[in-house]
Amino acid sequence: MNGKHLIQKTLVVLKPDSVKRGIVGEIISRFEKAGLKIMGLKMIKLTREEAEKFYYADENWLESVGNKTITRYKEMGLDPVKEFGTDDPKKIGGIIRGWLIDFITSSPVVAMVLEGVNCIEEVRKLVGPTEPLKAPPGTIRGDYAHVSIAYANWNKIVLRNVVHASETEKDAEREISVIFKPEEIYNYERNIEEVIY
Ligand code: ADP
Repeated sequence: MNGKHLIQKTLVVLKPDSVKRGIVGEIISRFEKAGLKIMGLKMIKLTREEAEKFYYADENWLESVGNKTITRYKEMGLDPVKEFGTDDPKKIGGIIRGWLIDFITSSPVVAMVLEGVNCIEEVRKLVGPTEPLKAPPGTIRGDYAHVSIAYANWNKIVLRNVVHASETEKDAEREISVIFKPEEIYNYERNIEEVIY
């Protein structure tokens, strides 16, 4: 088989909102239907320490979360200083990271390791953009959520956007290692590989 290097693993976390709403099965089936292979699956309540490692305070990530938020504020004619007390993207990213850690540790989540061709990009495509309001129909966030950044930020809460999916191979590796022990990831043969890959 050529292109084996394109076969990647990623981490998906069904956040507390999906678990509480009872839509875990529906969401998992979307990944299965796309032909992705479930290699690890479990329910876990993250400790604060695990959540801090999971949402690692990488400067670039904080800046990117902050910048995405600032861009949306500009589009909506809102002032980030009013909501966050600053327009420094890294500081805004840091505030959002705090909300995320509170949220992800508030209740159990369902985490899974998925494998497939270009799996990271594929899963992010199925999941859709960060802000449910902007996520197109057909994506998980577009179909199962609807809230906006403006609403979340006025209430000083994280966006309820149903799922987390790793953004890069490096993130996937780190995030998988926070939640799964190596022996909890199973490599098994499926007899449908030749019709999918
Ligand atoms: P994604 O999850 O799409 O990769 P980011 O890495 O930019 O998005 O952000 C991580 C998470 O932080 C998002 O999934 C969302 O739950 C939350 N988030 C991002 N921006 C905001 C915001 N402005 N207000 C509230 N929550 C936010």
